[in-house]
Amino acid sequence: MTQKMLSEAEGYDILRKYDIPVPAYQIVKNGEDAAIAAEKMGCPVVMKIISPQIVHKSDAGGVMVGIGSRKAALGAFTRIIDNAKAYNADAEIDGVMVEQQAEPGLELIIGGRTDPAFGKVITFGMGGTMVELMKDVTLRILPVTEDEIRQMVKEINAYPLIAGYRGSKPRDEETLVKIIGDVSRFFLENEHIVEFDINPLRLYESGACAVDARVIVT
Ligand code: ADP
Ligand code: MG
Repeated sequence: MTQKMLSEAEGYDILRKYDIPVPAYQIVKNGEDAAIAAEKMGCPVVMKIISPQIVHKSDAGGVMVGIGSRKAALGAFTRIIDNAKAYNADAEIDGVMVEQQAEPGLELIIGGRTDPAFGKVITFGMGGTMVELMKDVTLRILPVTEDEIRQMVKEINAYPLIAGYRGSKPRDEETLVKIIGDVSRFFLENEHIVEFDINPLRLYESGACAVDARVIVT
């Protein structure tokens, strides 16, 4: 069966329907519109390449954070497009996302895939760009109960970073549990979604925000 990757914007739109907080965004096709969007949204903003062929946007120089002015947004647009073309000359470029910049937080990953034997499974762990290195993830077959989600959260090695470690304040574990539940529903209720990851979900002392979404559909 042919599979297709949705854009980050399409991913955000579905997540929002399931109550999962995502940044406000605007898709732009030229530098002038990027500048206007940045100003309207309020700097700093984050800008990212939109291309079905570019799965890991940072690897392509396709993510710029901390864009602090109209002028910076104008320059960033050109740079992101140039970087993407240099990375993959054949990549179709559908524009650039201008996103509200989320506050720094603990970066976690929530993912899902379809196992040939067990069906839909959900994974949770430490996120960010070093997930492959850390391998600190846990997994459950869907559906899951709230108790199972609570266990899952406590299972990862990095759990002390959520619970509060050496004087660092605890993070919003209740919101995290709710979001994993909402994400599980999103995965189960959408049959055509075969795989996804939210990497990272930023977890705060209060609340959370998903700042990337990769969704694969059949
Ligand atoms: P990639 O395709 O490389 O995974 P991401 O969309 O995850 O690209 O962006 C790379 C990193 O940039 C994220 O891990 C996150 O730390 C940061 N980032 C992305 N979007 C935002 C945002 N809206 N606000 C703040 N930081 C962001
Ligand atoms: Mg990411």
